[in-house]
This record gives sequence, C-alpha cells and structure tokens, in this order.
Amino acid sequence: MSYVDEVIAQVKAKNAAEPEFIQAVEEVIESIRVVIEADEQKYRDLAFLERLVEPERIIQFRVPWVDDNGKVQVNRGYRVQYNSAIGPYKGGLRLHPSVYLGIIKFLGFEQIFKNSLTGLPIGGGKGGSDFDPKGKSDNEVMRFCQSFMTELYRHIGADTDVPAGDIGVGAREIGFLYGQYKRITGLYEGVLTGKGLTYGGSLARTQATGYGLLYFTKELLAVNGIDIAGKTAAVTGAGNVAIYAIEKAQQMGVKVVTCSDSTGWIYDPEGIDVPTLKQVKEVKRARLTEYAAARPSAEYHEGKGVWAIKTDLYLPCATQNELPLEGAKQLVANGTIAVCEGANMPTTLEATKYLQENGVIFAPGKAANAGGVATSALEMSQNSERLSWSFEEVDSKLEGIMKNIVHNVVAAADKYGMSGNYVAGANIAGFEKVAEAMKAQGVV
Ligand code: NDP
Repeated sequence: MSYVDEVIAQVKAKNAAEPEFIQAVEEVIESIRVVIEADEQKYRDLAFLERLVEPERIIQFRVPWVDDNGKVQVNRGYRVQYNSAIGPYKGGLRLHPSVYLGIIKFLGFEQIFKNSLTGLPIGGGKGGSDFDPKGKSDNEVMRFCQSFMTELYRHIGADTDVPAGDIGVGAREIGFLYGQYKRITGLYEGVLTGKGLTYGGSLARTQATGYGLLYFTKELLAVNGIDIAGKTAAVTGAGNVAIYAIEKAQQMGVKVVTCSDSTGWIYDPEGIDVPTLKQVKEVKRARLTEYAAARPSAEYHEGKGVWAIKTDLYLPCATQNELPLEGAKQLVANGTIAVCEGANMPTTLEATKYLQENGVIFAPGKAANAGGVATSALEMSQNSERLSWSFEEVDSKLEGIMKNIVHNVVAAADKYGMSGNYVAGANIAGFEKVAEAMKAQGVV
C-alpha cells in the first residue's frame, strides 16, 4: 500500500467517530499525494504525514457557569493547538451546539494550510465550545466567556496562541474574553484578534473574510478571463462572512439575490438590502423572517435549498457540508460559473468532485476565506508595534494578500500538472511551506 493510503487508513481507524476530521484530512492528503509520492521514502522515514495529522496538543476542559435563573450549567471547552511550524497557533473559537472534538480538529487541520497560504507567519489552531449563544442574555454570554477564559488563559498568549472569532463568536464575545484574560494575567497584549477598535482591534477586520472572499473571487475569475462586474450571485449564511461578502459583491457590481440562516433562506430578486440584513442579524439577532417582513420584494423559504436559484456565482458562507451532491447537481444544471467557499468546508467531497468534473470553477475555503485570518495577523502586527493602521491601508493589504493567494494556488496546480484544480493548488501551496519548516525543525 502506498504511504499516503496507509496514513489515510490509519486516520480513519484512529478517528472513526470524527467524520468531518476524516473528510478534511482525506481531501488534503489526497491532493498532496503527487508531492509526497515524488519523494515517498523520505516522507515515510520522517513519519511526516503521521506528524502532520496529529495535533501538537489538544486541550479539553469544563466550562461551568450560572444562568439567569441561578442554575449551574456545564459546557465543554476545547483548544486544539495543531501545528506551530511556521508561527504561533492562530485560529478562531466557535460557539455552537454542534461543536465536538472532531469539528475543532477538522477546523484546526484546515487552518494550518490556510494560514500558510496567507504568506504570514502563523501556525494552525482552533477552539470553541458546545455552548449555544442563541437565546442567551448578554450576562449569560459574559459569564460563559469569563469561565471559558479562566481555563484557556494559561494556554494562550500573544507569542504562543492567538484565538479569534468564528461561528457564534463576534465582537461581544471577544470583548468578554479579552476582559477576563487581562484581568487574570494583568497583560494588555494582542492575545485575541477581532477586538473592538477602542482596545486594540484592527479596522477592516470585521469585513475581512467577506471582502477577502470577493477580492479572491474577482481575481480568480479574471485569471479565467471572466469579469465579475454584472454577474449575479447566491450567498448562503447571514453572519459575519455572508454580510460582508454581499456588501463587497455589490460594490463590485454583482447582484446578490439570496442569503440564509439555520432555519431558512431568502430570495430577493431586487438584490439583498444590506442595511436591512445588518439590522435583523447584527442588531436584533433575529430570524430572516424579519428580513422578509421588512422587504416586499423578498420571499422567505423554510429549510435549505438556495441552490434552486439560478445565478452565475455561488458563495456558501454558512457552515460545513451545507452544499450536498444534490445541490451541486442543481448548480451545474443552472449553469453556475464558479463556487467560491466563504465558509470552512461547506461543500461535501462528492459535491466538490461533481462541480470540478462538470467545469465549474471551484475555490476551497482555505484559500478563498483566508482574508479573515490574514487580517487577524495584520491586527497582531499593529498590536506588536502599538500602532493602528487606516482602513484603507489594511484593506489594500488584504486585497494584495488575496490576489497573491490566487496566483500561488494557480501556480501550484500548474506546477503539478493539475491546472484548474484549485483544491489541489491550495493544498499543495499551503503544504509546501509548512513541510519545509517542519523538515528544518527536526523530529518535534
Ligand atoms: P456567524 O456565526 O456570524 O454566522 C454563521 C451563519 O451561518 C449564520 O447565518 C447561521 O445561522 C448560519 N449557520 C450556522 N450554523 C448553521 C447550520 N448548522 N446550518 C445552517 N446554517 C448555519 O459565523 P461566521 O460568518 O463568522 O462564519 C461562517 C463560516 O465562515 C464558518 O464556516 C466559519 O468557520 C467560516 N469562517 C469565518 C471567518 C470569520 O472571520 N468570521 C474566517 C474564515 C472562515 P443563524 O443566524 O441562524 O445562526
């Protein structure tokens, strides 16, 4: 059996209860197969892939907190410090009831390659909890965040591990987490990113993942001889990534006609109205039914199925495995030109293959949504030099980074004879830098 197949089999056997993790590992390792097999004995002698797939450290802890009725609640907290070959661990914290170790490991593993692709010196990590912020009062969220940080603080630091936001963790949660870190350690340092502007946050961080997705998509289309202006798009999600993806798409002359949340989706043929969406989701934290109520042109549909709407571009920005094979088939039938992932692994493996085999330009999240973590790294730089850059400065650096990622991904795919396969291009380009660093640092 080849070395790659052996390691995939081992990962499946050892992590059988973690399907998302297996999916992420399989996707990456399959696409770097050509690199590994060019020098198989050396990688095998170094147990290189075994080390790559094993996190450097997994921290799991209990998070006790008291709800507004005086009842004690207990959640489970995680931080997976996956790989520090090229820099301190960096990656978000997710608060969602679906969180368990397999989700955090899949996200942490993906983060290694994403962070490498940014060209910035950041390693891979991820964390979170099965706490559900939905329906909780601000005080409950604060008590949870304080308890979570009371354990996490001893494992993180501005030069060791720098968490950020993800699903369920926005400005409110980062503020509570930062306050508790500072209170316990007495340190005013850049230990978290996504901070508020009054206490060390970076301008453009809020917008970065969504804006970055559009800078990426525009450049990738240009590489394929297509102008983004005048195109139509379907976006899924209605959170941080989705909102700013829609905003930037509209600035680029793209008409976005959909968005979604965990209960349903909106079709608004007039184009999604971003101020209304922000009011419903960022201010009121309400359901999309309220968007439909406020916009006569909008239709609300219960459940999933955004792919039913015919558009040129499809930008999934909600969560993992939201786009199944059935959706991919519909997109191909609709004549969709490109699918660029704003969320992490929103497309199943079968759906990805189907899109690629049917000529749809497909960009994986680890490349297309890297603008968030890239701007987090820019926030770390500003914190280190105790300066704040202007919005324009951060935004133009973000745009440069995203264009660069496109060209590195395209070049890596070309180099290994897989032109147009941007999944392989992203995995190979991300892997090469991490591999060099790991080899140089010996068996650690
Ligand atoms: P938010 O919590 O701000 O928004 C998530 C959105 O997706 C919400 O609209 C939510 O619906 C919906 N959603 C969440 N879980 C599910 C589910 N199980 N089924 C259907 N819909 C769901 O998160 P973000 O926008 O920050 O993150 C979205 C994706 O982007 C995630 O995959 C994340 O890992 C990825 N990402 C985020 C980055 C960032 O900077 N924030 C950076 C890179 C990637 P509802 O409103 O009902 O909760």
